[in-house]
Amino acid sequence: MSWAPCPFEKLRPSQLNRDDAFYMSLAFNLAIDAWHANEVPIGAIIVCGGEVIGAAHNEIKRTGDPTAHAEVLAITQAASKIGDWRLNACELYVTKEPCPMCAGASIMSRIGRVVWGCHDPKMGCLGGAYPLHDLKGLVHRVTVQGGVLEQPCREIVQAYFSLKREDNAAGGLTPSDDTVT
Ligand SMILES: [Zn+2]
Repeated sequence: MSWAPCPFEKLRPSQLNRDDAFYMSLAFNLAIDAWHANEVPIGAIIVCGGEVIGAAHNEIKRTGDPTAHAEVLAITQAASKIGDWRLNACELYVTKEPCPMCAGASIMSRIGRVVWGCHDPKMGCLGGAYPLHDLKGLVHRVTVQGGVLEQPCREIVQAYFSLKREDNAAGGLTPSDDTVT
């Protein structure tokens, strides 16, 4: 059950033009699923050869697992699907710039390209707060692209935390989220 109505509607991109915005729309729709599940609304998908082989949203509260970020869950699914931990031929689409853990997971899984929606100047580690992908000595270089569908990806996270703050101030029962994952 939804803890609060989600003010955003799922996107219905044309199937004919499978560009970055198309795949980010799929990730955004997973962020809406996260909202309904009372999780921080961030979604991620992994694409390989035009096929979606990983799709997840944050599941920290449901699982009680602090590593259950959308990107990590999607990476695990993708590696399992193709039977190889090396995801060189894959692209990761995520609605928010990856945190240190997820930027690291992207590099360690050798994902070819990471595309994110909104920048995160506080915690983003693919250029926003720190360019982890530029670390000297890395065996694998990941290509990064930010700012795809930036506005809706940013607004849904902002709306989520704004409503959570109001709810907590009113003595609501929903658990607080003290960090953007
Ligand atoms: Zn993360």
